[in-house]
Amino acid sequence: VPLLEIKRLDKSFETKNGTVRALSGIDLNVKEGEFLTVIGPSGCGKSTLLKIVAGLDTDYAGEVRLGGEKVAGPGIDKGFIFQEPRLFPWLTVEKNIAADLSLKRPEVRREVDRLIELVRLKGFEKSYPRELSGGMAQRVSIARALLRYPKILLLDEPFGALDAFTRAHMQEVLLDIWQNNRTTMVFVTHDIDEAVFLANRVVILKPRPGEIRDIVPIDLTFP
Ligand code: ADP
Ligand code: ADP
Repeated sequence: VPLLEIKRLDKSFETKNGTVRALSGIDLNVKEGEFLTVIGPSGCGKSTLLKIVAGLDTDYAGEVRLGGEKVAGPGIDKGFIFQEPRLFPWLTVEKNIAADLSLKRPEVRREVDRLIELVRLKGFEKSYPRELSGGMAQRVSIARALLRYPKILLLDEPFGALDAFTRAHMQEVLLDIWQNNRTTMVFVTHDIDEAVFLANRVVILKPRPGEIRDIVPIDLTFP
């Protein structure tokens, strides 16, 4: 049974200029522990797809199931990482990671410290977001997304704004996390090199004439 099951997914937006079909007839299964990347040009519906899986948009037709259950809202079983790190500027690194959990709880403290080490931010626990580089801020948002052991991590072009060096480092961090935790990854990018480097399976979300979009799966190695 796949962890994520998408069947006949259709999504349209009503705009002043009429109906925009963002996704049409998407079928996609993702196995537990898989690292899937979704590539495709700008506007082909990648963000829309990820937001639906994340439970941030529930206005669609078709079936989207996570662990056999209909996706009905954000919830703690899904971690979501956006293109730009969205940190609370008035909170320190460690409080941004803990979010609404108290660092006074020993198990939260322990887990936050472990994650700070994992994303290599030791020494920056008490720093504020404005004191961090872009790469460091993105690592904080990854640590925050990991805190509750999500079954699945959804990443929407998370490294698009980073320079090549920081990006390469972040890709290694993400592969470490995947190897150590077997977190299922769905990673959206328009960069084919990045998609192939990270994933054990790449799918192409293709815009076709007549607004029809189609997913073509290419299975690489998945044990
Ligand atoms: P991608 O992430 O691949 O660049 P998106 O998922 O952002 O693509 O967008 C897919 C299509 O849906 C595009 O044609 C875009 O213009 C349209 N779209 C996305 N969000 C909205 C919205 N909130 N209102 C209207 N149209 C939208
Ligand atoms: P990377 O994410 O690849 O490590 P960064 O550009 O994010 O690259 O930062 C490289 C290192 O430089 C960081 O790990 C940190 O030690 C240091 N650094 C970057 N920006 C700052 C800053 N504003 N204050 C203190 N140290 C910084």
